[in-house]
Amino acid sequence: AQRIVIKIGTSSLIYPNGKVNLHAIDQLAFVLSDLKNQGKEIVLVSSGAIGVGMNTLKLDKRPVSIPEQQAVAAIGQLELMNIYTQRFHLYNQTIGQLLLTRDVVEYPKSRTNVKNTLEQLIKMNCIPIVNENDTVAVDELDHQTKFGDNDQLSALVTQLCHADLLIMLSDIDGFYSDNPVKNPQAQLFSEIHEITPASYECSKGTGTKFGTGGMQSKLKAAEKLLANNKQMVLANGNNPLIIFEILSGKAIGTLFV
Ligand code: ADP
Repeated sequence: AQRIVIKIGTSSLIYPNGKVNLHAIDQLAFVLSDLKNQGKEIVLVSSGAIGVGMNTLKLDKRPVSIPEQQAVAAIGQLELMNIYTQRFHLYNQTIGQLLLTRDVVEYPKSRTNVKNTLEQLIKMNCIPIVNENDTVAVDELDHQTKFGDNDQLSALVTQLCHADLLIMLSDIDGFYSDNPVKNPQAQLFSEIHEITPASYECSKGTGTKFGTGGMQSKLKAAEKLLANNKQMVLANGNNPLIIFEILSGKAIGTLFV
């Protein structure tokens, strides 16, 4: 069976007006469930806890203090998983939740526990849904506990569960020669074989007030995967049906190979 990790960013789950994009979540649940029925093994890494929590609490600005962000994430994570549970149930799938921190995967013992849990969930025919544990990961700058963003987390999960491919869904069609939001002349790269300092030069700034990683963090994730002979596709998550097209071998988004 082919094992695939899918990472979906906040910008694909939350509309620019702050509301939850139920259409995207429903499509995602449909596609992943269908892939499972085709015999593929699926792990989902989902951001969105803070975005969904902001919507629940009707906040229009991301809170500045870390305790506030953690509290909003605690509310939003539950709400988000509730939506996922409902949508995946529609397609007869059972999901399991893994909340991880960096230190967890750096200690060999807990790393093994995480690996075993992922394996067991897959064996039990479930779809693991992974996110960063915002309550324990104290500080954006504290690299002891925090991944910083789910881009790194998804690369790590891809390695931990020996998946063949990471599909990273963002709010942009792929990796361009420059930030296409600012430069309309920017060209989409369809294939990238190596991440160089020049690649990082191409990718400054993030897209939305909800997105945290930015393109540089996606390149860092791709760099890790390429070093481990794994593939990554970066594509637009505004319509998760795109996953079918990617897996059918069409040249969509940017393939890091
Ligand atoms: P997500 O929330 O999906 O993780 P981010 O906002 O973190 O997405 O990152 C995607 C954003 O990165 C794009 O919307 C775009 O504004 C920005 N970006 C910067 N440089 C590039 C580039 N070279 N190619 C594509 N996007 C880029």
